[in-house]
Amino acid sequence: MAEQIQGIRGMGDVLPGDTQIWQSVEAVLQQTMQAYVYQEIRIPIVERTELFERSIGEVTDIVEKEMYSFADRNGESISLRPEATAGIVRAGISHGLLHNQKQKLWCAGPMFRYEKPQKGRYRQFHQFDVEALGYEGPDIDAELIMMSARIWSELKLDAVELQLNSLGTLQSRKKYRDVLTEYFSSHEDVLDADSRQRLHRNPMRILDSKNPEMEPVIQRAPKINEYLDSASANHFEVLQQLLSDAGIAFTVNPRLVRGLDYYTRTVFEWVTDRLGSQGAICSGGRYDGLVEQLGGKSTPAIGWAIGMERLVELHKLSGRTDAGNERHVYIVAVGDEASRTGFRIAETLRSEHPNLCVEMNSGGGGFKSQFKRADRSGAALALILGEEELKSELIGLKALREEGIQKQVALADLNTAIVDFLQSSTNTN
Ligand code: ATP
Ligand code: MG
Repeated sequence: MAEQIQGIRGMGDVLPGDTQIWQSVEAVLQQTMQAYVYQEIRIPIVERTELFERSIGEVTDIVEKEMYSFADRNGESISLRPEATAGIVRAGISHGLLHNQKQKLWCAGPMFRYEKPQKGRYRQFHQFDVEALGYEGPDIDAELIMMSARIWSELKLDAVELQLNSLGTLQSRKKYRDVLTEYFSSHEDVLDADSRQRLHRNPMRILDSKNPEMEPVIQRAPKINEYLDSASANHFEVLQQLLSDAGIAFTVNPRLVRGLDYYTRTVFEWVTDRLGSQGAICSGGRYDGLVEQLGGKSTPAIGWAIGMERLVELHKLSGRTDAGNERHVYIVAVGDEASRTGFRIAETLRSEHPNLCVEMNSGGGGFKSQFKRADRSGAALALILGEEELKSELIGLKALREEGIQKQVALADLNTAIVDFLQSSTNTN
């Protein structure tokens, strides 16, 4: 036998049992986008490396250590996208979408970061991303957060908690940065190598350190809220008011700085304690300077991204994923003649009931083995054809999940029986 080829570390497959769960989560996300009238945008998976260096920031974990960057055949440095915002802004600028217009957008797909793979942290992972471009006020910050809260409630997740902070403007942050540099300089002996390197280039990144030994010195560091400019403080105040009005609980966390340089004013994270140390399921913030930084006209904007692997995992833990499908019927047909009739019936049902899932038994077999497959398929109803049924132009119906119908109807009445079945399954939902 030939040697097996291994997949790439940290890049997983989503197997058939799981894709169903992913799809049901994706359906909730897309319905929510419709409800808030956000439109989908699709962007490439690779961009020029420079795009990420200039937006995410050169002194960040992502750009310093996590990007998949390589030279293409022409010698140009390109990178697999580590996140979607930079690409969306690039697309918005180059297609004139931000010219005298506002945009409410969403985007979904794989992202790539060379991190240490572990539960909830992968090298290829998926994000569901929302961006509102051209909106300045705290009302849109509230809308984005309310939208995410609605997703949790649609999925009936309750173990999620909102953390909120304001980083002020790029200008007001300079002052804080100086104070922070001074503070950490006076504690340089306890800083790790990474933090020491960042001390003068990007001291705020030190607050984002995941090294537990750094925690005490970070805890005692000056807090950013004392350095907010008054417009940012007011923006933050109004946002908190709007969230309270909407009944959304939150905690203000002055240590929340987020791992990307482009954030201004509002930043937030939805966290859960159910997923171990990888607890952030959705993170985002305002990035009022980014469009200009990438060569566009100054445009305020805000966005968030959900980590899909973490959200799907949390959804699974909630135990609310459906095992079977109440619109799924399985045709059990024993014998050549019955199979032919079964095939014909399957196609007719698919034409007449577009929301019915019709699975025709494949691979032959007797009643026993076909019923086993029907059971395993997750179907709610078996349609049964054998020689007996054919002779008398009948078809059997048998509920597979719970106590329910078990009867025979004339082939000519199958349609009515299916309509009844569909109705009873929507009633019990
Ligand atoms: P973390 O603090 O967990 O590293 P982050 O601040 O780097 O997260 P963002 O860049 O804001 O995360 O990405 C948004 C969301 O994407 C995160 O909240 C998380 O759910 C998810 N995410 C980020 N990195 C990974 C990864 N390597 N594997 C799986 N999900 C991830
Ligand atoms: Mg990270």
